[in-house]
Amino acid sequence: MVIVMASRNREDIENVVRRVEELGYKAHIIEGVERTVIAAVGDDRGKHRLQSLESLPHVEKVFPILKGFKLAGREARTEDSVINVGPVQIGGGTFIVMAGPCSVEGREQILDIAQKVKDAGAQMLRGGAYKPRTSPYSFQGMEEEGLKLLKEAREATGLPFVTEVMTPEQAPLVAEYADMFQIGARNMQNYGLLKAVGKFKLPVFLKRGMMSTINELLMSAEYIMAEGNPNVVLCERGIRTFETETRNTLDLSAVPVLKKLSNLPVFIDPSHGTGNWEYVVPMCKAAAASGADGLMVEVHANPAEAFSDGAQSLKPKLFAKMMREIAPFVELMGKKMR
Ligand code: PEP
Ligand code: MN
Repeated sequence: MVIVMASRNREDIENVVRRVEELGYKAHIIEGVERTVIAAVGDDRGKHRLQSLESLPHVEKVFPILKGFKLAGREARTEDSVINVGPVQIGGGTFIVMAGPCSVEGREQILDIAQKVKDAGAQMLRGGAYKPRTSPYSFQGMEEEGLKLLKEAREATGLPFVTEVMTPEQAPLVAEYADMFQIGARNMQNYGLLKAVGKFKLPVFLKRGMMSTINELLMSAEYIMAEGNPNVVLCERGIRTFETETRNTLDLSAVPVLKKLSNLPVFIDPSHGTGNWEYVVPMCKAAAASGADGLMVEVHANPAEAFSDGAQSLKPKLFAKMMREIAPFVELMGKKMR
């Protein structure tokens, strides 16, 4: 249920929050530009009892949220969410590029590529320390050592970093180092993991599962937000179709659909979306033109030798060229890269 407050007074809001909690619901306070609303969420059964709160003083009206994604949707929060990752603002008119290798492979590799993507204009670094690989015999990531190297790269460049967390047990350690959790496509519906990262305040980069619908993606975001972490960024990274020329089929139409349904920022990952570096640059431009809030792009100094995802990684020079080429599209959409 959405409880629209007629007052912005702290005490009045807290009074309503208390009443919501007494009825057994969690109260999420949403401060909009024009009004404050309280989203009361919890067990669907017996939600009609919340309707009685309409008689409280300072409550303007109470109405049901029809969609399943109550906090991720636009019914309770009509305005776009802005998520801060260190000094970087995601959403609210910026266009943010997260770039770096698929995997952290060593000290020199990550320090070198971090500086190169920064010089090209990336505002965030990406790199996997825990890797979800199809084969158990493939490189599984450098684990904590990789996190330490990412931290060193952040200290050297000032770029905050996003890195994948694969299990609830890993979350506290990853949170000690990272500026943002990544939930990978394969874990989008790992509800235990979603609940675990929901207990942190650290922002979460949530990738769409390769066989998941948009509704399922939003319901996964809801799991994180319902635990109390509102800092979620959505990412379309390609879905499985009958097409075999590309690794996945990048669903760019997800951008306007998600923008309509959700208040959360929306990113595109054309690297996993296409699986082929030759298709990455055109899809970066298309993503900017589609109204996305940013990109996640894999970049490697020597893709042929990469431990993972070399075929879809841009070399630094091409990445820098891409950054120059997307600028007019970003500007045309009224967004700012710096
Ligand atoms: C990645 O970002 O390297 C990755 C494994 O992505 P996805 O979960 O989208 O496959
Ligand atoms: Mn990858």
